[in-house]
Amino acid sequence: MLKPFNKKVAGLCLLLIFLLSACDNQAPQAKYPFVYSDGIMGTSFTIKASHLPETVKHELLKTQIKSLLDGLNAELSTYESQSALSLFNQNQSVDWESVPSALLTVLTESQRISQLSAGAFDITVGKLVNLWGFGVDPMNFTAPEETILNEALVNTGYQHLVIDAETSKIKKDLPELYLDLSAIAKGYAVDKVALFLEEQGINDYMVEIGGEVRLKGKNINQGAWRIAIEKPTPEKRMIQKVVPLSNISMATSGDYRNFFESKGIRYSHTIDPRTGRPITHKLASVTILSDTAMTADALATAMMVLGEEQGYQLAEKQQIAALFIIKTADGFEEKSTAAFIEFFKEKP
Ligand code: ADP
Ligand code: MG
Repeated sequence: MLKPFNKKVAGLCLLLIFLLSACDNQAPQAKYPFVYSDGIMGTSFTIKASHLPETVKHELLKTQIKSLLDGLNAELSTYESQSALSLFNQNQSVDWESVPSALLTVLTESQRISQLSAGAFDITVGKLVNLWGFGVDPMNFTAPEETILNEALVNTGYQHLVIDAETSKIKKDLPELYLDLSAIAKGYAVDKVALFLEEQGINDYMVEIGGEVRLKGKNINQGAWRIAIEKPTPEKRMIQKVVPLSNISMATSGDYRNFFESKGIRYSHTIDPRTGRPITHKLASVTILSDTAMTADALATAMMVLGEEQGYQLAEKQQIAALFIIKTADGFEEKSTAAFIEFFKEKP
């Protein structure tokens, strides 16, 4: 459900960008030869480069990035009724259909993460996301009825989507299957912008969309990029920790920003595909480091669904660099995997 850009979301995201920039505050934004912020996919983005080759024209670069992002949105968004994704969702046919390359890549990685997480990550949760008021349908702020939920659950399951990479075709074996790429598309878009910058000869950059980031090279001060991981509190935006990052991507999933409350219960926008209901455990956020932002983005949601025990065990087993922030009686507790700790060790 890539949302159309809306002002409320924009307000929150601009704050996040403020935090991100604040971390780089030894270097005021103005000093960066390229800084570009705008909105896409229901959220905001910021792109910075520390060096621009002389051949690169500032304004042209912005236009190219914007059209790249608009193109991805037009392919991957459930809010665009004519997107390749929406056309597949609307079409009740169970026959093979050709899909464009971005969609094919994102679907293939989605299915890989679904298998790796035993279905905790599942893009076929689209109908459930809508029922709980976090999708294209207007917010209802109440829990859906049991019978309606069960009906949607019957039409959920990543096994019902089949991909044929050779022919770039996909098919579903349930006519009602509804795909939602919100937990992975932002990450993919970050990767595409990053690779585009590299094609232009730009090798020192930060690309951030809705909190998912990819970093390469150095910041303006010739050091690693310094990126904030938020404290998972809904009331106020605060920094949990600032990490130095370069040549890596980072994504965070949390239950603290996008939720509704009804009768004292907080309903998160992360749905457990096994129950059809929002997650309910003590895990407040998960941050993942990975080579691509697409993988980091999806893994963060997968871990968020699995929770502080199962998620942590899987991350350790798969050698995933992950930071779990868990709610305790008097605050938060951090749990890092070995790979996460290793990443920040001084390399000789
Ligand atoms: P977060 O930063 O918390 O991960 P995202 O926007 O990246 O937030 O992803 C959350 C969105 O992913 C939800 O709004 C919903 O559209 C979708 N989603 C919810 N549960 C799942 C799930 N189990 N697997 C895949 N996508 C999900
Ligand atoms: Mg995410």
